[in-house]
Amino acid sequence: MDQTLSYDVVVIGGGAVGENAADRAARTGLSVLVVERELVGGECSYWACMPSKALLRPGAVLAEARAVPGVAELLTGTLDPAQVLARRDVFTSHWDDRSQVEWLDSAGLGLLRGTARFAGEKELRVDNEEDGTSTRVIARHAVIVASGSEPVIPDVPGLAESTPWTSREATAVEEVPSRLAVLGGGVVGVEMATAYRDLGAEVTVIVRGDRLLTGAEPFAAEEIGTALRELGVDLRFGTETTAVRRDADGVHLTLSGPQGEQTVDADELVVATGRRPRTAELGLDVLGLDGITVDDALQVPGHDWLFAVGDVTGRTATTHQGKYDARVAGDVVAARFGSDDALRDAEREAGDWSRFRATADHAAVPQVVFSRPEVAWVGQTEQQAKDAGRSVRTVSYAIGSVAGASVSADGYQGTAQLVLDRDSHVILGATFTGPDAAELLQTATVAVVAGTPLSRLWHAVPAYPTVSEVWLRLWETAGL
Ligand SMILES: Cc1cc2nc3c(=O)[nH]c(=O)nc-3n(C[C@H](O)[C@H](O)[C@H](O)COP(=O)(O)OP(=O)(O)OC[C@H]3O[C@@H](n4cnc5c(N)ncnc54)[C@H](O)[C@@H]3O)c2cc1C
Repeated sequence: MDQTLSYDVVVIGGGAVGENAADRAARTGLSVLVVERELVGGECSYWACMPSKALLRPGAVLAEARAVPGVAELLTGTLDPAQVLARRDVFTSHWDDRSQVEWLDSAGLGLLRGTARFAGEKELRVDNEEDGTSTRVIARHAVIVASGSEPVIPDVPGLAESTPWTSREATAVEEVPSRLAVLGGGVVGVEMATAYRDLGAEVTVIVRGDRLLTGAEPFAAEEIGTALRELGVDLRFGTETTAVRRDADGVHLTLSGPQGEQTVDADELVVATGRRPRTAELGLDVLGLDGITVDDALQVPGHDWLFAVGDVTGRTATTHQGKYDARVAGDVVAARFGSDDALRDAEREAGDWSRFRATADHAAVPQVVFSRPEVAWVGQTEQQAKDAGRSVRTVSYAIGSVAGASVSADGYQGTAQLVLDRDSHVILGATFTGPDAAELLQTATVAVVAGTPLSRLWHAVPAYPTVSEVWLRLWETAGL
């Protein structure tokens, strides 16, 4: 071993979630080390949220501008892929993590480059593949695992050998292929289909089931399916991929679907069929674990020094929710092992100590699909609420009928739906579709978290003429 380092807390993984956990854990004077084997900032910054949204935004802007006469006439061309990719490169900082490393430094957090593996309780071995060094790292109080997730490549004959793209290659693309096949109709599949169609590719999406976005309300999935087809995407539902082959002409997929056996030829194939926790290299067996599960304090049961946050826990799959869990875990570690006297002034000013003993509450998990229309939802779907034994009713409203929406775009199409508890009259869940629907979501999230009955929410008057006026229409549709 080349050296030994001792810190109060060690965070494995410097993605967005690990960074947050580290920052919060340091708030009561604990020394914190982040171990990262790739880029500080993780998947979200370089191969997921930021580049995918940078690829999707130009198509959304173009569609919105085309819906406003006076501007629409100016738009005579199509998107310029080179410019879109160049702007994407700015958002990924050209895959350079210097600014994030500077942030770690400014927050007083240590950084060690390399792959961390458990060598025992509160003890890790970190191997740096680049310089060949090995470091023994001792965590005096706690280890927080934030090692993220990795894509699953399904076991289809010839698929792995065909060097398919995962979301990494799809978001880091240098040259847009003419023909793209996408396996999977979840969030990543839908977003990538939209982005690549906008960039001029012929896109085929292959879905085993009979709908897209299985986590969303069925009406939202249907709207997305219709919109993708109108965009020119070839959607194949109920279709299994039985074989894949790559040759000099590209990738060739053999499919089995409602029309029997079919083939699809493409230049590239994106596999977007799900992700699994990235645990294989952590050496969890040393701790007698074969995977990571956590309680609501984000602690691994039976190990009072071991915590986990983000995608690796399998209980969150978004940056925002992973960072929320990271704030909770960081606060728990800070409160349990740190000193109140060491609290920074700002935190002492905030004064609410109960937050420091927090547990994570997942009643209102927001999710946005940045497709066209955007789909945004929070809390329970109607079916989830019923399955949970609630007596529910839904109210919905066509957002395009709201004055603010019609001013923002001719032919605005979108839907708002609330899932209401018949007994308590609170909002259990909400779904919005339409241009910029994501911006309607936070109001719904606040309402679900607050558990405030409609009779009180009715007094929250939306400004005229905004798209948010749909809330007033929803109250009215609910009978208020
Ligand atoms: C295409 C795509 C688009 C997405 N878009 C959005 C979006 O718009 N909004 C949103 O909220 N979410 C989005 N997500 C989800 C989001 O990217 C993840 O939820 C988020 O990145 C999880 O963060 P994390 O810190 O848990 O994991 P990661 O970001 O994966 O970070 C984990 C880090 O740990 C490091 N690591 C792993 N093992 C070790 C080890 N043994 N030693 C040292 N370091 C290690 C890795 O190198 C990595 O940097 C998207 C995902 C994809 C795939």
